[in-house]
Amino acid sequence: MSSSLPVLKVPLHVPALEEVAKVLELGLKKNFADVRVDVVDCPDLTQPPFQLASTGLCGNPRLADVGGVPNLIPLANSAKNYNMEEMAGLLELPYGLLVGAGAGPNHVAGVNCEMACNIKFEQSREKTENRTCFFKVNPKDETHLQLDLKSTEFSLMANLFCSDGEPGKVIEAVAKRRTGPLSYMTCLRKALADHFASKPVGMGGTFAIEKGKAKLHIMPSFSKVPLTCDEDVDKWLKYYEMSAPIICVGELISHDPDLDLRMEHFHCYSDHGEGGHYHYDTTPNEVEYRGYFNIAEYMFRIDKPLETHMIGRD
Ligand SMILES: [Zn+2]
Repeated sequence: MSSSLPVLKVPLHVPALEEVAKVLELGLKKNFADVRVDVVDCPDLTQPPFQLASTGLCGNPRLADVGGVPNLIPLANSAKNYNMEEMAGLLELPYGLLVGAGAGPNHVAGVNCEMACNIKFEQSREKTENRTCFFKVNPKDETHLQLDLKSTEFSLMANLFCSDGEPGKVIEAVAKRRTGPLSYMTCLRKALADHFASKPVGMGGTFAIEKGKAKLHIMPSFSKVPLTCDEDVDKWLKYYEMSAPIICVGELISHDPDLDLRMEHFHCYSDHGEGGHYHYDTTPNEVEYRGYFNIAEYMFRIDKPLETHMIGRD
């Protein structure tokens, strides 16, 4: 699939997995009571609870930051629609595994929604495994709904971790009982940022919230009035407390090399129909996290908005 979208391919700092594991363990220990981080052979992530579209996170690991929040705020640009097959091509991984967080396809679903991307492309397109999930706000009563939708389309923005989806060495990061103020995701990112400073280290993959509950949001229909500050965005979003086991997919980066990046972004899905955008757990005493991550070699900045701002980046 050809594409005319502008793409910047930027090499990232790639430390050894063992070094990253030490850095993450130190960081997590400041925020969780029980922590273990190791370099392991990636378990088969197609199996429960993760149920990724491919077994592993290895082979040409890279990140993609597509579009951005400025496509949504202050007012949504409904012309900003993308396709995962197009992304795989731009990422030079036409048969890659793409997992991560983005906005669902407004033009397909008929409403603004959340996407937890989880797709492995194959040369024979009938064999492509698409386990992507979409979630929307029920306009009737503002409860949340998982959409019955199989699509490779999305809108506005996405933050993706991409690889050949092969087995290999990855980082396993287990953290139980939160003792500090940071979410698991933010704690991992800050640990990298504190250690690697201005060297950008990108990491992505998946983590499970195995016990406890978490605060997630789902975007409702596009706002008809401009959202001009974080408070406006906060009032517009719909927040829910959802229950483990919840699976999160996405990516984070320790430092933005002036590419107008989203620094961390994970979206969730589950076997019980709950999902959305991960903020943090709400049950520090019982929460348990288990994540599998790989370090990215490149950041692909795709269709960077021409005008930007820092509103709504949480
Ligand atoms: Zn999100």
